[in-house]
Amino acid sequence: ARRSAGASWTGPGATSDGHAVQVLANVQDGAGARTAAEQPIEGFGLYRTELSFLERSAEPTVAEQTEIYRAVFDAVGAGHKVVVRTLDAGSDKPLQFADMGDEPNPALGIRGLRIATSRPELLDHQLDAIAQAAEGAEADVWVMAPMVAVTSEAAALAEKVHGRGLQAGVMIETPSAALLADRILEHVDFLSIGTNDLSQYTFAADRMAPALSHLTDPWQPALLMLIEQVAAAGLRAGKPVGVCGEAAADPLLACVLVGLGVSSLSCAATAVRSVGAQVASVTYEQCRAAAHAALTADDPESARTAVRALLT
Ligand code: PEP
Ligand code: MG
Repeated sequence: ARRSAGASWTGPGATSDGHAVQVLANVQDGAGARTAAEQPIEGFGLYRTELSFLERSAEPTVAEQTEIYRAVFDAVGAGHKVVVRTLDAGSDKPLQFADMGDEPNPALGIRGLRIATSRPELLDHQLDAIAQAAEGAEADVWVMAPMVAVTSEAAALAEKVHGRGLQAGVMIETPSAALLADRILEHVDFLSIGTNDLSQYTFAADRMAPALSHLTDPWQPALLMLIEQVAAAGLRAGKPVGVCGEAAADPLLACVLVGLGVSSLSCAATAVRSVGAQVASVTYEQCRAAAHAALTADDPESARTAVRALLT
């Protein structure tokens, strides 16, 4: 991406020939959300709620949660989207009050939505607080759950979220969820691909292990093949599919994701302008060609080289 183009990009997200792509920011609290909202974004594509509670030994009350969530909802412009993620506790984000005890392999243990099986009240209280905070807020509040593996989990989540009058979605972070995207979309309104965990679980490679970063590289063709399948399911269902993992923060890879069919990109606020500017500098047809080149490359390095040649 050309820096000058990034500095002057003012949104909304679209390719040079007008194919719309929402550019959103990942946030974790009210202060960060207010800073992120200074960027030319159309909302927040991932609000990581658990990060407000890492130090807590007891579950915050519904009233306290409501206030915390409301600060984030109030940071965006009227009608802008805020995708709230329910607690992603466990593994790399341990929450004391949702601690599931010693697990031999926490990344494969009780994390994310799985905690709702043993501690259903944690999810119910959180959804009550989100619904209360959304009431009267001008933001368009959507709710999604992390670490979903099978359709029944998505269906149960959707029932609870729809019961509170909100849009329901799930994150696609496991290969099983990617394979089940069509069936999951029979229950939910949208999907958001978490490429950080989807890489970890697809390549059986710890996302925290620097020695394995060649495997968790988001340019890996096998990861892109899964993203293509999920995006295609979204297009068939006529429902939005976004990417909210680190992959969306890489301007060239963002164009590949657009070519694979995703409808929104959510990344760190600091990356928003370079991503938006890069997408705006290419046509949708170029994104399609870049996606084809990346999918058919032998490895991440050749994928990058081929895409750079096509888009810059
Ligand atoms: C992801 O897994 O890609 C994601 C966006 O969630 P987190 O990084 O918070 O696990
Ligand atoms: Mg994740």
